Amino acid sequence: MPDFKTLNGEIKYLCFDKLAYPKNWREISYCPACKKQSITYFFEKFNMSYYKCKKCNFVFLNPFPSEDMFYDIYNSRYYNSVREFIEIPKVLMSKPHASVSVCNDDYLAINDSVSKILSGGNWLDVGGGIGSFLYYIRNHNEGFKLYLSESNERSAEFAERQFGIEVLKPDIFDENKTGLRFNVLSLLSVIEHISEPIDFLEKCVRIIQPRGLMVINTPRYSLLNRLLSKEASYNVIPPYHVSLFNEKNLVRPLVERFGLKLKNIWFSGQNAFSFIDIMHLSEFCDVKIPEKNDENLMTLCELNLRPQKRLVYGILRRLDKNFEKIIKVTDGKNMINAVFEKI
Ligand SMILES: [Zn+2]
Repeated sequence: MPDFKTLNGEIKYLCFDKLAYPKNWREISYCPACKKQSITYFFEKFNMSYYKCKKCNFVFLNPFPSEDMFYDIYNSRYYNSVREFIEIPKVLMSKPHASVSVCNDDYLAINDSVSKILSGGNWLDVGGGIGSFLYYIRNHNEGFKLYLSESNERSAEFAERQFGIEVLKPDIFDENKTGLRFNVLSLLSVIEHISEPIDFLEKCVRIIQPRGLMVINTPRYSLLNRLLSKEASYNVIPPYHVSLFNEKNLVRPLVERFGLKLKNIWFSGQNAFSFIDIMHLSEFCDVKIPEKNDENLMTLCELNLRPQKRLVYGILRRLDKNFEKIIKVTDGKNMINAVFEKI
């Protein structure tokens, strides 16, 4: 594999040279969230197409990678480097928070929200990486028996060895093999990576005990993202973020199709929209793939703007600063956190 220095370079090689986009990628004619045949082309990013549902405003990559491409996508240099050089060293140096995908405030708020409803039982974290979230839960909430499901073997092996967390190796959806149902099932920064997320969530609901909880944390594609940012939103990262939800098209299928009860929902992180998105500068920005221990993720931006554009850039930056609070109240933050109960 070529030796990439940045995420965009690796995406280009992975999707076009190795996985031959769009040949053999799966294309659908319906909305993966509401299942209606009401989709329309929306925009392109890195030469890959996203579609939008005219009924529920769900935004998704189409065509999307087929299952046999997942190994290449999630064993890419970027993913492995983030785990090896950022997340694992942080754990080994006992730093309080290791995950790159989910912030500590979300861990805290999710634990608080669950604790108000349940005090014990089986807790399964699906796609939980090196186990930092479950480790947090163990240190703050002793009543739960913790299980991790993680398809990346290196991450799962680290979680088992470092934290002593039980990793479920058989298919978690096959109750006959695991012998388990769960009182809490959490999906933190997971469903945005899944191309038919509602079908996947249906399988998750089946293995939750009655009165048990499903916890979801996922990026939020806000109204202003849809109207103004489009592909400039930093949550649009093909082929990784294939499913972009808002609070309505996330909650609705879970409540109406699966009969779940929404117990709590809140937004977190920074604002989903920023005025600078209007300039669609993401093509100038990239992320450096970490190369040594304890490196932080570094965004690289090469903005050689002409004077006129530089002036606009300055104005938009000022608008972002001056209107930050108003945007937060009117358009909201960039992560959705939701807790559902299975009736
Ligand atoms: Zn839809």
